[in-house]
Amino acid sequence: MDYQRFFEDAIDQLHAERRYRVFADLERIAGEFPRAIWRANGEAKEITVWCSNDYLGMGQHPNVIAAMQSAAGSMGSGAGGTRNISGTNHPLVELELELADLHGKEAGLVFTSGFVSNEASISTIARLLPNCLILSDELNHASMIEGVRRSGAEKKIFRHNDVAHLESLLQAAGRERAKLIVFESVYSMDGDIAPIEAIADLADKYNAMTYIDEVHAVGMYGARGGGITERDGLAHRIDVIEGTLAKAYGVIGGYITGSAALIDAVRSYAPGFIFTTALPPAIASAATASIRHLKASSAERTEHQRQAQRTKDVLSAAGLPVMPSETHIVPVLVGDPELCKMASDRLLGKHGIYIQPINYPTVPRGTERLRITPTPFHSDALIETLKDALLETWQALGIPFTETQQPEIAKSERIVPLLVSKSGG
Ligand SMILES: *Cc1c(COP(=O)(O)O)cnc(C)c1O
Repeated sequence: MDYQRFFEDAIDQLHAERRYRVFADLERIAGEFPRAIWRANGEAKEITVWCSNDYLGMGQHPNVIAAMQSAAGSMGSGAGGTRNISGTNHPLVELELELADLHGKEAGLVFTSGFVSNEASISTIARLLPNCLILSDELNHASMIEGVRRSGAEKKIFRHNDVAHLESLLQAAGRERAKLIVFESVYSMDGDIAPIEAIADLADKYNAMTYIDEVHAVGMYGARGGGITERDGLAHRIDVIEGTLAKAYGVIGGYITGSAALIDAVRSYAPGFIFTTALPPAIASAATASIRHLKASSAERTEHQRQAQRTKDVLSAAGLPVMPSETHIVPVLVGDPELCKMASDRLLGKHGIYIQPINYPTVPRGTERLRITPTPFHSDALIETLKDALLETWQALGIPFTETQQPEIAKSERIVPLLVSKSGG
């Protein structure tokens, strides 16, 4: 048995399908975000990052760095064990109170990552409910899918953001059966938003529980950064609000918030919570500092929205195929995995601009794209530089531009397939 061959074959298959992933070797420069040092072929070069999920640049905020340094200095580096074994470091107690307050819930529970929070919480909640049926949006994140799988519960997938489809599934299940609807607020590849109020109405009508992933919205939407549910006044209508401390808050960790009983049950029954060492106190302190700052300050949110809109406007006006997005995400269609990778390589090598290619299975085949995430630190001048670099790249590689002479195409919701079929992808 040649064990190594199986791993080599697995990797060869990814190469053959043009979806082998390469991670750039980057060193972020605190105080100069979004600049970073890129190392390749024995050289180091300064570049601009355009695909970071540190959406507001909080990873370099002086308050956040100071909180991390101060807690590490006074309490040391690690947590010292699972909370089951070693108790809870005080900064984590404070963080959970901060999170419960952020979403207007009775309690919060912190996990080592957003991924773990979804996997552990969804699986535990659905396992505790008798004969639970999970209703899951078809575009849910891998961490939610893992949670659904691990629960062992029956599941039905509803078409993306399709309230009528969801209702037909709820109706078929009946009011009496336990039901958990799991979905996201902002879907991070297309930048669209779920019909949260309509889903909450259905949950009331059919007596279902609701679980929302606000990972791509917390810190960025709502008067205090409580996400789309805060912005739209819907937080009280959702049973469980999940989020991350790793994206807009610029640190690491994930969490859920909800009723005291539900949080206590997940705390007591979820292996992914119980059997792993807690986040270090310095991480918890930094996350709390970041959340507190963004509760009080809207300047980052305002500037973020402005620069995202400006990026969309400038790129669209230049004829680049910006895909429709309701949020801060700016997807630009390439429509071919090979070209997508080549475009990304050319942007980095020739223009010093880093945008990771997004290929299948992260997005459907034929919709391969560059996913651009402007932040408050991407100035108007940087946006111009980005536009010029993209234009050069699109021309050099022969990637299709938007057909501006045909506004009916641009208006149509079918813009993606049309452009793809034209590119022969
Ligand atoms: C990134 C992401 C997660 C996982 O969060 P981490 O804190 O990075 O583990 C969960 N849900 C969605 C939708 C995500 O994009």
